[in-house]
Amino acid sequence: MKRMAMIFMALVLVFGLVAVAGPVEAKTGGKLLAITFDDGPGPYTSRLLDGLKKRGVHATFFMLGQNVGNYPETVTRMYREGHQLANHSWDHSDLTDLSNDEVRRQINDTNQRLNRAAGKGTSYVVRAPYGSFNSRVMEVAGAPFIYWAVDPLDWQDRDAEIVKNRVVDGAYDGAIILLHDIHSTSVDGALAAIDILQDEGYEFVTVNELFRRRGKVLEVGESYHRCSPNGTDLGPVQKPTFSYEIVGDQLRVTISAQKGAEIYYSTENGNLNQESKKYTGPITITPPTIIWATAAYNMNGSRSEVVSQSYNRKPTKTPILDIQKNGQMTLTSRTNGAKLYYAFGGEAPSTSSTLYTGPVTLKPGTVVRACAGGEGYFTSESAGGTYSHLGNFFRDVFPKDWFYEEVDQAAHKGYMNGLGNGIFGPRKMLHRGQLVTLLYRYSGETVTKEEMAACTFKDLQPNSYYMEAVCWANARGIVDGYKDGKFRPNQNVRRQEMSKIFAEFLAYRGKSLPDGEGALEKFTDKDEISAWAAPYVQSMVACGLLEGNKDGTFHPKHGAVRAQAAVVLVRLAQLESTLPDAPVEEPEETVPETLTGIEETVPETLTGVEETVSETLTGVVEESQAPVVEENP
Ligand code: ZN
Repeated sequence: MKRMAMIFMALVLVFGLVAVAGPVEAKTGGKLLAITFDDGPGPYTSRLLDGLKKRGVHATFFMLGQNVGNYPETVTRMYREGHQLANHSWDHSDLTDLSNDEVRRQINDTNQRLNRAAGKGTSYVVRAPYGSFNSRVMEVAGAPFIYWAVDPLDWQDRDAEIVKNRVVDGAYDGAIILLHDIHSTSVDGALAAIDILQDEGYEFVTVNELFRRRGKVLEVGESYHRCSPNGTDLGPVQKPTFSYEIVGDQLRVTISAQKGAEIYYSTENGNLNQESKKYTGPITITPPTIIWATAAYNMNGSRSEVVSQSYNRKPTKTPILDIQKNGQMTLTSRTNGAKLYYAFGGEAPSTSSTLYTGPVTLKPGTVVRACAGGEGYFTSESAGGTYSHLGNFFRDVFPKDWFYEEVDQAAHKGYMNGLGNGIFGPRKMLHRGQLVTLLYRYSGETVTKEEMAACTFKDLQPNSYYMEAVCWANARGIVDGYKDGKFRPNQNVRRQEMSKIFAEFLAYRGKSLPDGEGALEKFTDKDEISAWAAPYVQSMVACGLLEGNKDGTFHPKHGAVRAQAAVVLVRLAQLESTLPDAPVEEPEETVPETLTGIEETVPETLTGVEETVSETLTGVVEESQAPVVEENP
């Protein structure tokens, strides 16, 4: 076996020195060379590293375990600068002369020394001293064996010029070049040869990179002396890239690398090795923080350079915007040290907007948006609001909204108070208790003690916002409850119920309502209107208080949102002034029986209703982010 290896080496020598050019194949991608240095590290290795660094060259170092401990810093530097560490036995014994245990010790002891730089778990290719190996040695070593294609005999002729010429003359695409960094002349000759070969268009890569770039996998139990061009060049390992998103006070950083590459990273320093953290998904950090990362197919010589990304800016909370009744706007920061900026007219605020220095008085009809930020801070999300034409402050109603004017009027007249803290909740579903409360406010009337006492619904909460309103409406025949004695104040009000309540209200106010014969014919879903509700819906549609949807539906069983209630209330005021008074007549038997029909048609839960806001009223803009706290309208 040893003899076979020697013959093989001789053949390689001949070809390596004679063959100036590589095989004549169609080539794509770079011309690659792997330059390797054996028997070190030694006193000239750091000078060699300087020269390689200057030339942007990555080499492979087949080192002797017994030498590694003498130059620990050199080996660490070698690793960090992207060179490949490799195993050349402990003491340069001919491995074929050794027992299995001795071979194993030669390899493992050296690996452990190399691990001090590269980290536990690193795999190292092996080059047998004297190129002497056999299948037993390869199996025991448990690693791919790397031979060479070009041998300039630099150990024999200690002459930099000769070494240079032999390397240059012997080089061909895909060749592995053998040198020894324990000779000063070899270091000089190698660097001089690199200069010439780089000019000829060669790229110097590690052994691992040479094979990876050509799509070849180094196998345990195999030996290699070159990697001929095969039309494949996967290119160098790309550096990882960073992106982030702000999550509260922290940043969520995503690191990306090219396909198949793993990412190793640290937030402590840039000395990454096999033992560094492996990236598995976004990292949450608190600035100021630096992240170092590298993309790797193999951390030992087949990876990108280590790149760092600093995150110095602090996440910034949205400022608090407030507008008083008199139009005085104040901004309050929620992030220490951040500056505040604002812009009018709905324009997105930025750090180029007007700097806030103190309260500003707004003209009615102004939309303002504000943000926090400045040097050292990310720019926050914006806070926005309207100081309305009628002097209301809305965080979630803007002049461009289809319901703006009606909401402004309903708020101005006191029919609707909003949900507190500037939040109107235009897209919140309207509850039965809320609708009755709106009508109560609209009427301007008060409820008597007797009426309160007569109000016996089982499910009313004393002292609740709707209590007086429900009793008032009940006493006037505007509402009645369900058969089971409940009123269900917190249930969404459906459009057909709303029709009845408004019709009863107008009747109570002494208005003559149109019969509206035939008014429902135009609705494609008229059959969904409950029998008890049809006369009310018909009448309310006929007088224009309620409308159908653009698509020809009425959606009698859908709920209504607060913005719709505002629109209807404003219409109600107009309608009251135009509808004729009803002739005074003996009151006939009143309604109760008709209303029992409601019972079976109102399901307990109307939550499905939420999404299906009637389409006529959906000129909808962005949803309010503000939390809505109370039920009171
Ligand atoms: Zn050697």
